Amino acid sequence: MDTCSYCGSPFPKTRRTRKYCTNRCRTNACLEKRPRLKAGEVEALHALLDVEFTTVEALRERLRAILAPHLPAIPVVEGRVSIPRMD
Ligand SMILES: [Zn+2]
Repeated sequence: MDTCSYCGSPFPKTRRTRKYCTNRCRTNACLEKRPRLKAGEVEALHALLDVEFTTVEALRERLRAILAPHLPAIPVVEGRVSIPRMD
């Protein structure tokens, strides 16, 4: 038996599963790892230092685009967050 490195559950040690009890735990552990910044991302962040933003939201959206391109964009219109109407 071994102990899962993600959830701590005991699991039978086999050749296939080594550190984690299930593939789900392995995936979750992988997702939680702190992502390292790529060189291009660091460069883009440095470039932000030279940019003047009219609002915090505009800055947040630029940061999101660099750091979390997989997340939905913050809808900034003329420097302000535009909340989509539900109707
Ligand atoms: Zn587990």
